[in-house]
Amino acid sequence: MTLAEPLKNSDLFVTSFVERLRELTKQEDAFVPLHEPTFKGEEWPLVKDCLVSGWVSSRGEHVDRFEAELAKRCGTTHCVAVVNGTAALHTAMIISGIKPGDEVILPTLTFVATANAVCHAGAIPHFVDSSTETLGLDPVSLKVHPNQIAKRKNGVTVNNATGQRIVAIVPVQFFGHPVDMDGLLKVADEFGLSVIEDAAEALGSLYKDKQCGSMGRLGVLSFNGNKIITTGGGGAILTNDPDLAKRAKHLTTTAKVPHKWASIHDEVGYNYRLPNIKAALGCAQLGQLDGFLTSKRHLAKRYFDGFAKISGLSVFQEPKFAKSNYWLNAVILDADHAEYRDALLQAANNAGFMCRPCCSLMRRLPMFRECPQSDLPVAEAIESRLINIPSSANLAASP
Ligand SMILES: *Cc1c(COP(=O)(O)O)cnc(C)c1O
Repeated sequence: MTLAEPLKNSDLFVTSFVERLRELTKQEDAFVPLHEPTFKGEEWPLVKDCLVSGWVSSRGEHVDRFEAELAKRCGTTHCVAVVNGTAALHTAMIISGIKPGDEVILPTLTFVATANAVCHAGAIPHFVDSSTETLGLDPVSLKVHPNQIAKRKNGVTVNNATGQRIVAIVPVQFFGHPVDMDGLLKVADEFGLSVIEDAAEALGSLYKDKQCGSMGRLGVLSFNGNKIITTGGGGAILTNDPDLAKRAKHLTTTAKVPHKWASIHDEVGYNYRLPNIKAALGCAQLGQLDGFLTSKRHLAKRYFDGFAKISGLSVFQEPKFAKSNYWLNAVILDADHAEYRDALLQAANNAGFMCRPCCSLMRRLPMFRECPQSDLPVAEAIESRLINIPSSANLAASP
């Protein structure tokens, strides 16, 4: 290339995207991760307390405290802490009465764990489309689908094509953005479906005035290392139903029957409980959640305003009815700029800005290819045009 040769428009677009990232993250040379945890609370003293007392494992006061504080924060009466979000989803599937061979409706646009958990329970994922407004399930298109493919008989919804029961729906609050829950709950009610809310990414997000994770019969959170708060790995089940909470606790603690000294187990259970040392980390992290939320809204606003100066893309904004935790910010390319996605990803990652494409649609993955599904045009468009950009809470605080 000679210096006199003018830059092509596509090159300019890619260059200005990376320049803008540098400017908005205020990071000159360092590697900027997609999402890194912040430990500026009581982590050290609380973890030390576990080590000093010896209560690191399956019992201890931090588990009880973490569960109580999470329930309070999310506005549910009960919370059961477990080893990770996938285990929380798996447990929720079982206790909501999903049986092997049943179909469970979920968005094709989600992290793989949502679909994996359906399979762990022996059920069959049934993929539906998403909305550009929320990036999650759209009640309007969802209502059309079961009407077209299923029959309602004696209170049971049966898929005409497969002959299997459709029993539950899993709305995913994708990247922390709440979906239209009122609309979805209505559709669920109409078809007799249990609602398990996958709020793994959405701790602290509000739908109208309700906390994400609190709106289904069961809700699920994750505290994986990349989520808004972390225990290194962890999850929780939320519910307002005391019987479901009791059942969740029992099943996730090897179905051990309470007894002073005897070791009795009354069904095939799971060793899914969250260890005390991780719950200690969780308590310390939860104490910083409000600060993380403020930082993340600040960063999202900075991205929104900053990227508005580039034509051909926009930064995704929370739906009108929601207050999002902005767990992961996303840039969405205009349809006529979708072809540049990989060039932007390449350039940003080469420059040290960890950017990622959207998760692949579940139905493209080899293990889910044969699963029942609706038409998925919106999810396909989002997949081809979305890029997640660095979103750690500490970026907002950069000078
Ligand atoms: C992270 C995540 C999960 C699973 O959580 P883990 O703690 O990683 O097992 C489930 N669903 C969604 C949407 C997630 O982002």
